[in-house]
Amino acid sequence: MAKVVVIGGSFAGLTGALEAKRKLGPGHKVTLISKTEDFVYIPSLIWVPFGWREVKDISIPIRPILEKAGVEFALEEVTRVAPEENKVITGDNEYDYDYLLVASGVSVRYDLVKGLAEGEHNYSVCTPQHAEHARDGWEEFVKDPGPVVIGASQGASCMGAAYEFLFNFEYACRKAGIRDKVEITWVTPEPFLGHFGIDGMTGGEAMLKAFMKTFKINFITNSEIEEIREDRFVLKDGRELPYRYSMIVPPFNGARFVKESGDLGDEKGFIPTDDSYRHTKYDNIFAAGLAVAFAPPWTAPIAFGVPKTGFPSEVSAKVAAKNIVKLVNGETELDEKPMGKIPGLCVMDAGHKEVLILSNHLIKPRQFAIMLPNPLINVGKRFLEKYFLWKTRTGKANLL
Ligand SMILES: Cc1cc2nc3c(=O)[nH]c(=O)nc-3n(C[C@H](O)[C@H](O)[C@H](O)COP(=O)(O)OP(=O)(O)OC[C@H]3O[C@@H](n4cnc5c(N)ncnc54)[C@H](O)[C@@H]3O)c2cc1C
Repeated sequence: MAKVVVIGGSFAGLTGALEAKRKLGPGHKVTLISKTEDFVYIPSLIWVPFGWREVKDISIPIRPILEKAGVEFALEEVTRVAPEENKVITGDNEYDYDYLLVASGVSVRYDLVKGLAEGEHNYSVCTPQHAEHARDGWEEFVKDPGPVVIGASQGASCMGAAYEFLFNFEYACRKAGIRDKVEITWVTPEPFLGHFGIDGMTGGEAMLKAFMKTFKINFITNSEIEEIREDRFVLKDGRELPYRYSMIVPPFNGARFVKESGDLGDEKGFIPTDDSYRHTKYDNIFAAGLAVAFAPPWTAPIAFGVPKTGFPSEVSAKVAAKNIVKLVNGETELDEKPMGKIPGLCVMDAGHKEVLILSNHLIKPRQFAIMLPNPLINVGKRFLEKYFLWKTRTGKANLL
């Protein structure tokens, strides 16, 4: 009987554990360890600050899903992995494994910019708690509006969420009847609008410029933030931007325990893998989703990262799970699917509008890439939310 341990219970971990168990059957043991007991549909957190979603509406307890599938669940925080001993260590227990799948996502990194920490001078929508806190700030802001700075810090990789928050914030200001009192500035390390960490797509820059013009939003590209003070942003080029509300997406590192686990991760705590998602040093360790190390294949004057969205997170988990099953069954030829060659499939919600982003590869070269604006109504992201919540609740991890 093989023992497979999965760390993480979100897009990648849940998919990886369910797929490994489905393919391995009852003769083998799959255990999922997560420090959180709910799957939270993170893409909808951008709506929480405006009261358009409650965290409970987008949260699903994972224990019943796992139990039904025959996967054991441990609600524990991993503190260390000992790769030489094949052990995962939590505060309370040690878990032996034959195969390990690390799908523990990221931790936020605040050291690059003074004042960036959530709750210091900046709001964030990266976690349910951050998004709820951003709502408290929004409710105060509406009573006494003023200038706003929204964007992404140097080193960040989740530009799409920041763009979505920007356009939703602008729309919320109009709905609240305060738009004429709010000057909005977008700051981004991207060299051009719509780079998104994927080197842009044809027509994307022009489309985003048109959005900025239509919605009267100032923008600064190639920006590097020196410091966020109580009342102003100071950029590295000396420019100062007064603000009364700010939401800046921070850079990410890998999960904290990775750094405590010898050479499991790189210097940022991400897991180095080959295209089969197998660790470059440890043959029985795999990684999926945000946890995977993925260096930008492009260069830019200000450093920032490549986004690993929900779809590539699930695809990488499926490939990793399939390869673990192959090894358990004595096969040696592993499947490969490089992260950059996974198709791009995303909807950018823009308040009461949306843009569908589709490509055959996440990263260039691409044979097919299209950005389709829908200026009438934002239905795509709401549809995806309902679909993902249904798919997760029913444990149908094998579906797209
Ligand atoms: C605001 C925002 C909006 C986004 N919008 C979109 C979007 O519109 N579309 C899209 O496709 N993607 C979007 N993304 C990206 C998407 O959320 C990620 O791709 C996805 O969450 C990655 O899944 P993951 O399983 O790799 O990691 P995560 O979702 O980060 O999950 C990590 C898991 O590991 C667990 N864990 C971490 N550390 C430990 C530990 N020490 N011990 C035990 N368990 C641990 C956590 O509890 C969690 O269950 C957005 C991200 C953000 C922040």
